[in-house]
Amino acid sequence: EAKKRGRGSYEFFDVELRERIQRELRLEQDLREAVLADQLWVAYQPVVDVETGRTIAVEGLMRWEHPTHGAISPVEFIPLAEESDLINVIGDFMLHTTTAEIASQRRLHDVDLRLTVNLSAKQLDDPTLVPSVRKALERTGLPPEALCLEITESALVREPEAAAQVLRALRSLGVRLAIDDFGTGYSAFAQLWRLPLDTLKIDQSFVAGLDKPDSDAVAIVTGIVNTAHAMKLTVIAEGTETEQQVAVLKELGCDQAQGYYFGRPVPAWRLFPLR
Ligand code: C2E
Ligand code: MG
Ligand code: MG
Ligand code: MG
Repeated sequence: EAKKRGRGSYEFFDVELRERIQRELRLEQDLREAVLADQLWVAYQPVVDVETGRTIAVEGLMRWEHPTHGAISPVEFIPLAEESDLINVIGDFMLHTTTAEIASQRRLHDVDLRLTVNLSAKQLDDPTLVPSVRKALERTGLPPEALCLEITESALVREPEAAAQVLRALRSLGVRLAIDDFGTGYSAFAQLWRLPLDTLKIDQSFVAGLDKPDSDAVAIVTGIVNTAHAMKLTVIAEGTETEQQVAVLKELGCDQAQGYYFGRPVPAWRLFPLR
C-alpha cells in the first residue's frame, strides 16, 4: 500500500516528522523560559504506611502550566529537558522548591513528613548536584533524613560505577535513596546489592495486576518484596488504585503504598490535614 502511494506517503511522513521536531524545539525553548516565568510548580502525592494507612511521605512531581498549551505532562517535557542541560536547571528548581515547601509545611503543621524527589540520570553526571542538595537542606532546615532521592534503574545501569560514587556522596549527606519504577529496567537484584539504597519502588504495572485473577503479578510482587526485605530495603508499591490491591499488598508484607486510591498529586497546602 505504502509503496503504491509512492512519493506521496514519504512526503506525508516527512511533514509529520518535521512537525513533531518543530513542536519539540518550540517546547524546549518554552521550557527554558518557563522556569523564569513561574510556570513550573510542584504537586505532591502521599505515600502511606500499608498497615496504618497514615501518610509518611510525599513525592514531589513536577507540573508545567504552559501559557497556551495548558498543562503539559512530565512524561513529555522531562525527556525533552534531558536532551540538554535544561534538566539540571529544572532539577535544581525542584530540589530547592520542594525542600522549601515541605520544610515550611512541616513547621506549620508540626508533622514529621518526609519528602521524595525524582532525579534524572543526567543529574547524576552533574558535579553541582551534591553541593546543591546540601545547600537546599541547609537553606530550608529540612533534616537530611527527611529527604529521599529517587533514581530509575536505567540511570544506574548506564554507568554503574560512576552512579554508585554519586549515590555514596549523596548518602554521606544523610539523605535516603530509592530506586524508582523497579521491574521496568534491566537491572538485577545482583547489581542493586552493591548500591547504598534504602527503598525500592515497585512499578505500577505490577501493582495494576494484583487484583486481576489470571495475572502473574502476585507471584512477581511476592518475589520482589521478599528479596527486597532480605536486602533490608523498604518496599513501596506505586500506582495503587483499588482496595483489593491494598489488601493483597498488605498480605504480601509490602511496607508502603502510593496511588490514586490514597490520594492524587496536589499542591502542598492541599495535603493537609494528613491522613
Ligand atoms: P514516577 O516518579 O514513577 O511518578 C509516579 C507517576 O505515577 C506520577 O505521574 C503520578 O502522578 C502517577 N500516579 C500516581 N498514582 C497513580 C495511580 O494510582 N495510577 C496511575 N495510573 N498513575 C499514578 P506524573 O506526575 O505524570 O510523572 C510521571 C513521571 O515523570 C514520574 O514517574 C517521573 O519519572 C517523571 N517526573 C515527574 N517529576 C519529575 C522531576 O521533578 N524530575 C524528574 N527527573 N522526573 C520527574
Ligand atoms: Mg518517582
Ligand atoms: Mg515510579
Ligand atoms: Mg513511573
